Amino acid sequence: MIKDDCIFCKLANGIFPTNSIYEDEDFNVILDIEPATKGHALILPKNHADNLFELPDETAAKAIILAKKMGGVLKEKLGCDGLNIVQNNGEVTGQTVMHFHFHLIPRYEKNAKVIGWEPGKSTPEELADIRKQIVE
Ligand code: 5GP
Ligand code: ZN
Repeated sequence: MIKDDCIFCKLANGIFPTNSIYEDEDFNVILDIEPATKGHALILPKNHADNLFELPDETAAKAIILAKKMGGVLKEKLGCDGLNIVQNNGEVTGQTVMHFHFHLIPRYEKNAKVIGWEPGKSTPEELADIRKQIVE
């Protein structure tokens, strides 16, 4: 299903032109217009889903396999030294386009950057309490 007002639906389905690096029945993989690094690509399902939680399981499974395959292609063709796979769900995480996508961000030793967060602190009691909230 294509959502009328969704830019990624239009790019994934060839309605708007884009630099595609791979296409099959379910996905289009395109170059990000504001790349973090050389070869920064986006895996876009052709059917609209706002985010991971709306993505059918079968498509989610195919998406991670495709991420692995395209990571190999970027390594082979661009000679990257590593790869970040980033996937945002919801505005609070930085998602700006509400159509599920994986970012494939090649990393190069010569201008290496680490995607990270500020490590926090915890006590064994806090962790045990959080575990309880999640599993009980
Ligand atoms: P998000 O922040 O939602 O995880 O990432 C959205 C990504 O889509 C950004 O990295 C942004 O540069 C990219 N993007 C937004 N609009 C376009 C577009 O029209 N074409 C392409 N190729 N990338 C886009
Ligand atoms: Zn869409």
